[in-house]
Amino acid sequence: MENWLTKRARLTPNRVAVQYQDKQLTFQEVAEQAHGMAEKIAVVTENDTRVALITHNTLTGYLAIMALQQLGKTIVFINWRLSVNEINFQLSDANVNTILTDDSYTNILKVEKQLKLSELSTRKKVNPVTTFDDSFVTSIMYTSGTTGQPKGVMQTYQNHFYSAMGSALNLELRADDSWLAVVPIFHISGFSIIMRGLIYGMSVVLQRNFDAHQINELLVHQNITTISVVPVMLKQLLADLPKDVNYNKQFRAMLLGGGPTDSVTLHQAQAHHIPVIQSYGMTETASQVVALDAEYAHQKIGSVGKPLFPVRLKIADHTGKPQQQGNIWIQSPTLTIGYLNQPDKLEEQMIDGWFNTEDYGYVDSDGFLFVQGREGDMINSGGENIFPNEVEDIYADYPGISKVVVVGVPDEQWGSVPVAIVQGDNLRREDLIQFGKNRIAHYKVPKHFYLADYWHTTASGKTQRKPFLSELERLKELK
Ligand code: ATP
Ligand code: MG
Repeated sequence: MENWLTKRARLTPNRVAVQYQDKQLTFQEVAEQAHGMAEKIAVVTENDTRVALITHNTLTGYLAIMALQQLGKTIVFINWRLSVNEINFQLSDANVNTILTDDSYTNILKVEKQLKLSELSTRKKVNPVTTFDDSFVTSIMYTSGTTGQPKGVMQTYQNHFYSAMGSALNLELRADDSWLAVVPIFHISGFSIIMRGLIYGMSVVLQRNFDAHQINELLVHQNITTISVVPVMLKQLLADLPKDVNYNKQFRAMLLGGGPTDSVTLHQAQAHHIPVIQSYGMTETASQVVALDAEYAHQKIGSVGKPLFPVRLKIADHTGKPQQQGNIWIQSPTLTIGYLNQPDKLEEQMIDGWFNTEDYGYVDSDGFLFVQGREGDMINSGGENIFPNEVEDIYADYPGISKVVVVGVPDEQWGSVPVAIVQGDNLRREDLIQFGKNRIAHYKVPKHFYLADYWHTTASGKTQRKPFLSELERLKELK
């Protein structure tokens, strides 16, 4: 395909492409400024095919992405919240010589050249690439690291293009659409908004930090039509939003994904008339591949919906044989071409063109997908499967509990039993067990409850289970 930015600047030069704080740039201006930045970046990245980028959601970060694409460099996205050691691992894993940073990043990293974007000054004449080839890896993005070491995922222009198409065919496109990007642009949730902006000719409103009150103000007073959020953001937005206040009249979709959302939160969102679109996807599939249409939001609450237009889905066992409940398998043009430096890994998760997500779930008789959790988190207790998500969902509703995670521990009699780690006040084991027994099968009720003094989360706010397991002995058990 033709270079998306030059194409877009020719199609709709005067449309607003991006808004950041009190600045607005049209597509024409973005093309010019990205070119200017590309001339500076070219001087310091002459021999690099890959360049790492570390940035908040800022205009400079946005333009750096555009500029690197204009130069035909693969962008290695780095999460600024990671520790220096974690970042050094990724820089060496991705074999990069140069990292470009925004002004707020000050740690010293192990890399040949660490340069602030704002301090680049020398220019060199460059010609933007003429095409964005389908098979070109434009982004290398690390997974969230919820289950272990983050994996570098290679994403091509084809992946992003089909991802944008799938989303547009689901949400529809309107000329005055404007998408608020407060989810990080170094994750697929944020980066995909920027790619959609280019492909659709839609304006993107960049927000540097997530502050629930500020985001609610924007959604009430500005003509924003869409926002992407992760579950923890939705909870904070709801906690801040007064009962009688609604978002602006143009607002039509809050795309929710990245992890499970408890049903209490979903019901609260409905009471506020927020058009939540539940979705399911992962870094490997270049964002959502399954989404719930707003018209089914009430009827199918808790479902993540149906596969998007370019996507096929099946529930099957490990060998790919279809079954009622089991692994979620995906076939999609948005699927990564592979994990960085792990040439066999993707292959191991594929059979006959189908990708095993290693998530678990079922499809109801109307074709709606319900995600039960990660296969690796499943607890097998006396022959019965327990999904921590289901148990956590129940306890999320318990007065006094602010956070809860459920894990399986070895047990002589049952093989494994669920225990819960919680944060909260005035909690008694006996009450908690009774509460569970009134709502779920008895074998699913945690046998023990522990009080956490620290919560293990990824930079995107996902709870990491494994670290809790190794801490149980140290934690205080509720009596
Ligand atoms: P890692 O692969 O490093 O352990 P991760 O899987 O959390 O981290 P992401 O690619 O950011 O990294 O997240 C994708 C995963 O998030 C999915 O495989 C799934 O387990 C979970 N997920 C995404 N959306 C949903 C959803 N709507 N409901 C339940 N789980 C979801
Ligand atoms: Mg994953």
